[in-house]
Amino acid sequence: MSLETSQLNELHWLMEMLHNIDVGLVVLDREYNIQIWNGFMENHSGLLPREVKDKNLFSLFDEIPEDWFRRKAESVFLLKNKAFTIWEQRSYLFKFQNYRPITGTADHMYQNSTFIPLMAVNGEVSHLCLIIYDVTDNATHKLELEKANKELALLSQTDGLTKLFNRMHWERCLRAEFKRWTRSKNPSCLVMIDIDHFKKINDEYGHVVGDETIRHISALIREQVRETDVSGRYGGEEFAILLSDTTLDNAHVFAERLRQTVEASVVKYNDIDLKYTISAGVSEINEAISTYEAWIECADSALYRSKEGGRNRVTTFPNQ
Ligand code: GH3
Ligand code: MG
Ligand code: MG
Repeated sequence: MSLETSQLNELHWLMEMLHNIDVGLVVLDREYNIQIWNGFMENHSGLLPREVKDKNLFSLFDEIPEDWFRRKAESVFLLKNKAFTIWEQRSYLFKFQNYRPITGTADHMYQNSTFIPLMAVNGEVSHLCLIIYDVTDNATHKLELEKANKELALLSQTDGLTKLFNRMHWERCLRAEFKRWTRSKNPSCLVMIDIDHFKKINDEYGHVVGDETIRHISALIREQVRETDVSGRYGGEEFAILLSDTTLDNAHVFAERLRQTVEASVVKYNDIDLKYTISAGVSEINEAISTYEAWIECADSALYRSKEGGRNRVTTFPNQ
């Protein structure tokens, strides 16, 4: 084989490989007209090389933001350096459908892209090569992992029975609110709630009905709080609600409304219609309270007075 033939063969093979390689290859001229379009691009766009040849990139693919792309490409032309985009910054350059069965959750192909300057013999960058990588598998795995981690973080903050914050997380929020208060001095209140004669409910109807009652009060709490309030399950049938930016008077109104709602409602379980009540203690943060634990004790002693005073009532600390 002559040298010329073997070089021609090599060139032919190279072209064949570029056409069949599993990444997208596109060559653009200085006006962003398409010059080369390999098999990957053809398969995913449905457009043949002869259909895109000499056509402007932006008129064919309006999903590519022209200003952004030009800025990026001009720096490649000018500085003769490579440039990159990754799917985390921009999900894709070309909007191709995702056909992969195992990553069927994504509706489009996630892409990383590289911009490579192509130099002419005179040293000028006359063309630009785009390489498009299909990173859908990586992207969907990473997104799923992030979603699972978020759910896990939420689970570790949440009480399973009531979907309210668990005690540990709720106390963490209270500690943060206490710190915030030392700077802001905005009024902030704590409401502690305990179901009255809950042992009787368990004894008379069983623990399943007891649990249903706990779920019932939790749903009412979730309904009545604002988005900025922090509600938690403090213990078995004890709940704590942190009402930030709320005065003692307003916190009392909130607790009293919740108490009345409970008193007026019925827990239905199979053929059982159960009525129950709650007692509450409310305390507003003030200069005399030096730790968040002391703040809890104030609300708890108000709650104790509600119990002593006959239950089904709200008491504030200091007493009003
Ligand atoms: P009081 O009016 O003084 O609050 O009377 P009480 O009977 O409610 O007394 P207390 O608050 O001390 O009772 C708590 C009871 O709640 C004790 C425990 O058996 C029950 N308990 C705690 N956690 C759960 C739970 O998750 N499910 C059920 N069904 N019962 C629970
Ligand atoms: Mg209790
Ligand atoms: Mg109780």
